[in-house]
Amino acid sequence: MTTTTARGEQAEPASSSRSVGVEMITKVYSDGKRALDGVDLAVEPGTFVVLLGPSGCGKTTLLRCIAGLERISAGRVVIGDEDVTHRESGERGVAMVFQNYALYPTKTVLENIEYPLRMAKAPRQDRRRRARDMADLLHLGPVTGSRPDQLSGGQRQRVGIGRALVREPNVLLMDEPLSNLDAELRGELRAEIRRLQRRSGTTTFYVTHDQAEALALADRLVVMRDGRIEQDGPPEQVYQQPATRFVASFLGGMNMLDLAGAQVALPAPLLATLAEDRTGWLGVRPEDLRLVAGPEDATSAELVLHGTVEEQELLGRERLVHFRTGGDQCARVRVHADQTVPADITVIANLADIHLFDTAGRRLHATLPLSSGSR
Ligand code: ATP
Repeated sequence: MTTTTARGEQAEPASSSRSVGVEMITKVYSDGKRALDGVDLAVEPGTFVVLLGPSGCGKTTLLRCIAGLERISAGRVVIGDEDVTHRESGERGVAMVFQNYALYPTKTVLENIEYPLRMAKAPRQDRRRRARDMADLLHLGPVTGSRPDQLSGGQRQRVGIGRALVREPNVLLMDEPLSNLDAELRGELRAEIRRLQRRSGTTTFYVTHDQAEALALADRLVVMRDGRIEQDGPPEQVYQQPATRFVASFLGGMNMLDLAGAQVALPAPLLATLAEDRTGWLGVRPEDLRLVAGPEDATSAELVLHGTVEEQELLGRERLVHFRTGGDQCARVRVHADQTVPADITVIANLADIHLFDTAGRRLHATLPLSSGSR
């Protein structure tokens, strides 16, 4: 089992925070669908884990297995020192926040947040104080007397988060809690969730298929594919050293050129890394390519690609230029929005920004620098 500790800057875990062991979990649904296939994760108390992957890869199923909402087919779930595999959801000390968090429509914001404490029979004064503190923390102070239908989407989602956090769970599970919100609110609430988690130190699992959200939030990033873990590590590492072609493309949309058919002149160190038949995949991120006037601007230690521009997308300060290169393959380069782009272009990249993968999609990095010197 792998163990990764949380990032150094993280707050001390709260005393209620627990480690979580997901031990070789397999989940086969009654129709035979194998949604999880030997998923193994050991998570330190206080870690913010993000589960990232395309639709259907098993993220929600994994969260539901940890919560005890799904019975697992094989493996164990351990929270703290306790094997909770056969425990009911309510006995696991976990709280969950969903995409559409259902609030009690006739209760006020404060009553909604207070409700789990009421169920837990906390003394009235104590629960009022804790609910009020939580409302303040989530900037809901001015609307504590409002009902859910009087709130914005972002405020409603905040109430949902407050209700999950108020009873100080051992583990917090969040399933795409921001996906119904507009971009500005998402950004705002994302920062708030991170701040709250640091403050509470609650071990958190957060499901998303949004890579920006994943990178912004994670202490530990777990990329999933077809019910398995494809890569697991600190977000910087997963971004800078993608272990597979799948991770490289999914996280940051790396350009991927099939070297089997590519007419690309490869600098010597790259050739030395590849198998003799020169097959495999060459990956380079659009932001790591530079547009130059011609090949004479490149050194012998740089990769040079020639291309024909197909279309351009304005991103704001930058423009994403789509071009065809290396024997009719698609690639993209980011340029400044004001830059003039000719129909035929030359782009170059430092060797440190090149990622090579074998034909099975596994990273080959024996002779390449592991991280980019330009970043
Ligand atoms: P999304 O991002 O779309 O929510 P996900 O990564 O969370 O996807 P899951 O919801 O965990 O994926 O589903 C994993 C796989 O299991 C999918 O193929 C899904 O269709 C299947 N699945 C989920 N729930 C059930 C069920 N109750 N019965 C049968 N198959 C299911």
